[in-house]
Amino acid sequence: DRVDNPYVGADVYVNPEWSAKAAAEPGGSRVANEPTAVWLDRIAAIEGVNGGMGLRDHLDAALAQKGAGELVVQLVIYNLPGRDCAALASNGELGPTEIGRYKTEYIDPISAILADPKYAGLRIVNTVEIDSLPNLVTNTGSRPTATPACDVMKANGNYVKGVGYALNKLGDAPNVYNYIDAGHHGWIGWDDNFAPSADTFKAAATAEGATVNDVHGFITNTANYSALKEENFSINDSVNGTSVRQSKWVDWNRYTDELSFAQGFRTKLASIGFNSGIGMLIDTSRNGWGGTARPAGPGATTSVDTYVDGGRYDRRIHMGNWCNQSGAGLGERPQAAPEPGIDAYVWVKPPGESDGSSKAIPNDEGKGFDRMCDPTYTGNPRNGNSMTGSLANAPVSGHWFSAQFQELMKNAHPAL
Ligand code: BGC
Repeated sequence: DRVDNPYVGADVYVNPEWSAKAAAEPGGSRVANEPTAVWLDRIAAIEGVNGGMGLRDHLDAALAQKGAGELVVQLVIYNLPGRDCAALASNGELGPTEIGRYKTEYIDPISAILADPKYAGLRIVNTVEIDSLPNLVTNTGSRPTATPACDVMKANGNYVKGVGYALNKLGDAPNVYNYIDAGHHGWIGWDDNFAPSADTFKAAATAEGATVNDVHGFITNTANYSALKEENFSINDSVNGTSVRQSKWVDWNRYTDELSFAQGFRTKLASIGFNSGIGMLIDTSRNGWGGTARPAGPGATTSVDTYVDGGRYDRRIHMGNWCNQSGAGLGERPQAAPEPGIDAYVWVKPPGESDGSSKAIPNDEGKGFDRMCDPTYTGNPRNGNSMTGSLANAPVSGHWFSAQFQELMKNAHPAL
């Protein structure tokens, strides 16, 4: 009974809480009616935090928005035990061993609500556990990027079990479409990470009773900044006989942007046993990189580095930078079936919500302080020991960050 692409022929739910914050900003009415995802980022979010809307409130509002047509509601399932093992800004409320609470206090209540017949007419898209499974590949063991917390999550298996349990339970409702988070090209586009990440997703999708039929697709670039299409250079280019893969920016990656990565990874995933009809989502909320600094054409062919650096839209200092990036802009507006293999461009990270605080700020939300959000930090092995490029004066993750929202609108591409 599931349709091939839930976004085709459907509107997408506009979260009234995000919409109100966007609309209250000068110029914000230009985007305030765009659909963004609802993040269930802790157990309390199911009922609603600080008087805000809970899951049923959102689904009821969605029914009202739906009217007689079809409507997609986008949820983010994000509360694994030992969450965000390679970062501190969103490391969550559950300790590494609390898989039991994850199941009974988080996934089970969400599943029960989604299975309510009242909501059977909604197309519910779950993006499942961002920033989790690829960490088991890239940030463990003898890798220079390893963290003790990711080693723990690999050893105890609770990311794999948690994702399997979530896919299985949430997938019980026939109107639910699960998309597993698949990082982005600047994370798993390298040969060392690509196939092992796909294998890890397969392990999770066949754990705890889940099967590949509980997986409708994958999402890339969630809450990240990787450009959708780098049009001024391609992976097959070379300069004076040297491949762009040898440039400092590309650094041997197989992919230069999210569209080529998402399509390539889709093929890989189908080849290892995911259904051939899987579709990809790409989070384009903050990967526009427009504004006055956007290169108008390719860089000089003096060297591969001048060529790539002069032409690339993604103007991050390093591709491993992920927090509140300076210079970023809103990307493609949400749209269905934009390219082969891509179910939709979506805004999963709500633009204007912080990735993490620039300084330590006490809170009761499980939000730590990650120096990747501090513009004065000189980095770690996961960002090539580079400056972070993050905006100053940011609030804790998920909180409204007006200055960032203004910057994202200013640098939107397509322009507003
Ligand atoms: C935060 C969540 C928030 C989400 C969307 C995450 O980084 O940890 O609390 O809901 O971003 O802004």
